[in-house]
Amino acid sequence: MKFEDAVLEIKRRVDLVRVIGQYVPLKKAGNGWTGLCPFHGEKTPSFHVRPDKGYFKCFGCDAAGDIFTFLEKQTGQLFKEIVHQLAQDTGVQIDMAFSADDEKKYKHQNSLLKCLSVAQTYFHSIILSQQSAGLPFAYLAQERKLTPSLIQALQLGFGGGNDQELLTFFEKNHVDLEDAVELGLLRQNANGFQSFFLRRITIPILNHKGQLVGFGGRAFGHGSENLPKYINSKASSIYDKGAVLYGLFESLPLLKQKKIIVIAEGYFDVIAIRNAGFAAVAPCGTSLTEEHIKLLQRYSQDVILCLDQDESGKKAHLKILKMLLNSGFQVRTALMTEKDPDTLYRAGHLSKLKEILVAAPNAVEVLIREAQAKGNRGVTERIAAVTSLVPFLGASLSPLVNHQYVRLAAQILNEDEAVLLREVSKVNPAVLPVKSSISLSRKPLKPLVLPEDSPKSNQLIWNEAEKLFLRAILEHPEIVFNYTAFNPEDFNQELVDFLLDLQKKHAVSPTMIPQEILRSISVTPGTILVSILLESVKIKSKMTKEEAQKIFEGTVKRNEQKKQRALLQKNQEALILAEQKGDLVLVKQLLLQQTEALKEHKKLYAQPTPPIKTPLKITESTHFGFAQMKEAPVPKPPSQNLEEDLKDDEGWT
Ligand SMILES: [Zn+2]
Repeated sequence: MKFEDAVLEIKRRVDLVRVIGQYVPLKKAGNGWTGLCPFHGEKTPSFHVRPDKGYFKCFGCDAAGDIFTFLEKQTGQLFKEIVHQLAQDTGVQIDMAFSADDEKKYKHQNSLLKCLSVAQTYFHSIILSQQSAGLPFAYLAQERKLTPSLIQALQLGFGGGNDQELLTFFEKNHVDLEDAVELGLLRQNANGFQSFFLRRITIPILNHKGQLVGFGGRAFGHGSENLPKYINSKASSIYDKGAVLYGLFESLPLLKQKKIIVIAEGYFDVIAIRNAGFAAVAPCGTSLTEEHIKLLQRYSQDVILCLDQDESGKKAHLKILKMLLNSGFQVRTALMTEKDPDTLYRAGHLSKLKEILVAAPNAVEVLIREAQAKGNRGVTERIAAVTSLVPFLGASLSPLVNHQYVRLAAQILNEDEAVLLREVSKVNPAVLPVKSSISLSRKPLKPLVLPEDSPKSNQLIWNEAEKLFLRAILEHPEIVFNYTAFNPEDFNQELVDFLLDLQKKHAVSPTMIPQEILRSISVTPGTILVSILLESVKIKSKMTKEEAQKIFEGTVKRNEQKKQRALLQKNQEALILAEQKGDLVLVKQLLLQQTEALKEHKKLYAQPTPPIKTPLKITESTHFGFAQMKEAPVPKPPSQNLEEDLKDDEGWT
């Protein structure tokens, strides 16, 4: 059957409910089936499957299409791959696609896959059967802190104690030993066959389709000190090391929730990071390739780099960072406090690991701050630091992003922006065109010395709340024109510039229609603007002005509330300190301030009445005891959305 005919035939034959049902629990409803949409978070089902019409549709996020669209979205596989898979499942013959050579190749690959699968059964069964102390299972449980169910889920195994056992197992299962040699599972020499993963913990390596293509092996037990710690299966016709990322397939469910991928170095780092709730991958036995990056691109554009802190790790970090920026990724750097994620995990600091990943700052910003630190030593060091930084400032695909980096670097390093831009354009001429559209001396440069740990007021990472806020403004810019209440400190620098420009333009030409003003703005929040516009094109439904207004005011209010909370916290701390010192005058004064602040706070949370405890009354007889102090904690807002409020605060400068 011709390829295109085969596709139609597959669609006719495939059981839509059964295939989709493997990923989404479905319930019968009317003419079709419904379930929770796998493509957006929801609590009530708006995802519908119509087997009679051969399509699925989500009324929540507008995802829709046929079985191929669903599997492409769900598994990240290519159309062609899915067609071949389904052709097999439905018994459709595609003669065009399968020449005789292809068929031979296909059969050989199938036989290799079988060999791996038999080996995996053997490795995993050993680990399960030897659960006593000192043996591999105990090592994984006690030293690696992996629970039995995790060991099971990860399908970890053990290579066994002698060569003959694996050989016998292969023979019993009719495995062609030549296949095992080709895969590197067995090595043949004068003495016969040797098992490659002997006395090693085995870690199955799956490709992005979930096929087992090889193993990683970690040295284990007595005498292993002199062996290489990690080894990796040989490359084969089914295992292209440059195109397989360990952990990607296992991370797919996490990627549905959060489109961020952490790139780490080792198997156990990947496992630790996934336990912290992040999708994680690592190349095995090779450095990251362009092929790997193309693969990642199918799933996300947002990467956190989490590589070892040693010299070679740092070198790899810079190389990978440049490759990722060149491919249009947004990249962050995990600022590790320990050697690697696995160390943190084994020490029981999973929440710390999570915190580090959540707080990972923009990778280029990290480089800029490092350059700042190096540049403090002297002019030679300063020149070297800035020079090494330049290639990264121009590495992004987007001239707008590059320009943002140049600007940030100019501010932090107190360099002239125009000079820096010229340097960057030597490395990447594509940065230049931006020059004409911006005024290089828009703002007087002021030295911006931020303390090392100060929250990034120029942060370039946008969270969901900020994106929504910006979308509201983009769709209804008029809500900003006469607004005077917002405080520039509440937003990131990009957003502030944008809001100010919007207001200024309106003040100069009040009759210009909002969308025109929007178009005339020269400094727009670069990439984010583009992505939000793309998103809103996809979403189709426009925000009403009322909705936009609500989002805008909600954001402004949340910022106020956050500031108030910080103020109350600060006052409370000062109060405790003053009390410890016995400074009654200061205590009184602070209490008065606290009462005022609480009133303000109350106003902000006007509805419903917040359950704020009565502040301490100031009378001569008041006993300022600790117990009492503790009874008047910093009031928390009464809203049920407190958690959401707090969540919104993350990354919101
Ligand atoms: Zn949906």
